[in-house]
Amino acid sequence: MQGIVLSRRDFREFDQIISVYTPEQGKIEMVARGVKKIQSKNSAGLEPGQLVEFGLAKGKEMSLLTSVTVEEDFTNIRLDYRRAFVASFLLDTVDRLVEKNSVDERIFLFLCTTLLELQATPDSFEFFLDRTILQFFSLLGYTPILGQCALGGEDVLGFGTVFFHPKDGGVICPPCLAKQTPNQEYFSISQEGLRGLVSCLDPQRPLVATPFFHRFVFDFVAYYSEKKLPDWSKVLSL
Ligand SMILES: [Zn+2]
Repeated sequence: MQGIVLSRRDFREFDQIISVYTPEQGKIEMVARGVKKIQSKNSAGLEPGQLVEFGLAKGKEMSLLTSVTVEEDFTNIRLDYRRAFVASFLLDTVDRLVEKNSVDERIFLFLCTTLLELQATPDSFEFFLDRTILQFFSLLGYTPILGQCALGGEDVLGFGTVFFHPKDGGVICPPCLAKQTPNQEYFSISQEGLRGLVSCLDPQRPLVATPFFHRFVFDFVAYYSEKKLPDWSKVLSL
């Protein structure tokens, strides 16, 4: 079976539990026996972010890894600490938010595409991660509404400024804002800013720095995530 390694964690004295995302079975976890022993032949093919081909056997409580071959190592990512951070943050987020055995081939393809893109991305890692995290949330069913008012459906292009709070699921128009509880923390977005946001979300377009893009993405995903997400921009700016 083929899969992208999401994580590996220690288990008993010499074993590890390996989490892998596969196109056929979604996220699966398996025990890699003896993998912490120096001479283990499987150890090199179990790094998070590697695309591997592996064999499984039924175990008592959990499946057992029988063999593993690396199909794509994504070496460039591992050699650059910023790329490595972006990859590990993404893999870790997927590992935490995706339930075992819920199959979605799009998530597998998304992981492959993103790792390939990350190898080639020259710069702006924060924006890359912003866009990528939001793409992942779209696959989970959370996509911010930007083309129309998220509450009333009005054409937002007719207004000079629109407003955003993650609870509405997208931007809203000034008349709808007037009906909201006054003390809620909305932030305002100009037409230019809104066009920037739409462009940032389009994977076909180049990444152009939009000042509040990170805040928009982080507020949105933090609100809808079932688990607490650390603010990746803080780590990336170190
Ligand atoms: Zn409205």
